[in-house]
Amino acid sequence: MISWQIVEHGQPLQKKIFDSPEPQGTEVLVRITRSGVCHSDLHIWDGYFDLGAGKRFYVKDRGCVPPFTMGHEPFGVIEKIGSRVKGVKVGQKKIVFPWIGCGKCPMCRNELDNLCTSMRTIGVVRPGAYSTHLLVPHPKYLVDASGVDESFAATLACSGVTAYSAARKLTTLQPQDSVAVIGCGGVGLATVAVLRAIGVRNVIACDVDEGKLAAARQFGAKLTLDTRAPDAVQKLQSLAKGSLGGAIDLVGMPATAALGLGALRKGGRYVLVGLFGGELQHPLPSFALRAIGIVGSYVGNLRELREVVALAKKKKLKKMPLATRPAGEINSILEDLKAAKVLGRVVLDFESAGA
Ligand code: NAD
Repeated sequence: MISWQIVEHGQPLQKKIFDSPEPQGTEVLVRITRSGVCHSDLHIWDGYFDLGAGKRFYVKDRGCVPPFTMGHEPFGVIEKIGSRVKGVKVGQKKIVFPWIGCGKCPMCRNELDNLCTSMRTIGVVRPGAYSTHLLVPHPKYLVDASGVDESFAATLACSGVTAYSAARKLTTLQPQDSVAVIGCGGVGLATVAVLRAIGVRNVIACDVDEGKLAAARQFGAKLTLDTRAPDAVQKLQSLAKGSLGGAIDLVGMPATAALGLGALRKGGRYVLVGLFGGELQHPLPSFALRAIGIVGSYVGNLRELREVVALAKKKKLKKMPLATRPAGEINSILEDLKAAKVLGRVVLDFESAGA
């Protein structure tokens, strides 16, 4: 098997050749055909998350120690199964749910793996999908996506399920409300699509890049806002006609938090997804006086993945702009993503000549 690995944080990934693992017991060996490239991999590649005020959270403290294979949007073909595997067959094509917990705690037993305190996430803690082969601990983490384009299906494992889980946290929306999607990259465009698919009519796309805003408009956003405007909060309130019921922040930096929280109507909800970094500074009384809510959202659970895949199968979920490129181009793809040159998602292709 060929894996593209971080050998030193911040340095180009290196192509390495290994013997492919033999699945034991309930394990399944998946031959990866597609693997989406998420911005979170830029943070992991850097080796840390920025906690603000000069503080950092280092990924090595979560078990991500080089040499390490990233990649958490996997799609592929079942190549081999362990002796205790039931319910799947060699040759079937599946999305791999990467947000795997310990499998034993009450959260995991309730299919809330993404809230487990001992996660074994594919591409974050255990080897990921920037590889021709991936070992999955149990077949329950494999999801059928028959009829869905393979590159799009791969992106549902992270951007799709993250967008869906975040959108489902807007529990207080009223019919007249608008929802702001702040940051229209891969996860942001998926969020616009999910909101439209679940019936939200007034989506306001917010970004610093005209190209991303144009894509969001084509994708179903009714209105757009360049967040660099000095009066962005007032502009967003005015676009929402004073009724911004939700703001989903797919950037997650002080300026975008101030925008989302500042523009909400009374009783609105701000959902924080992005991990660009920094600290929140916001007057505390305003949370209570305006009855606004703030909730963090970390990827999604297996049930939510199945639900978002069902929307894609029914063609209710629009496919975001995707570029499928040979896996061997991973380093230039990461550089493009870092330079904000990617529209939607780039998905690695492991079957092309350049892989
Ligand atoms: P991306 O690079 O595809 O998109 C980022 C977008 O943010 C771009 O369109 C960029 O123009 C825009 N942007 C940057 N600064 C902005 C600002 N000040 N105002 C408005 N827009 C701005 O990234 P992505 O793959 O969509 O991921 C976005 C973030 O979400 C990353 O930090 C990633 O790590 C995080 N993420 C979190 C979760 C989770 O579960 N919480 C899951 C997936 C990704």
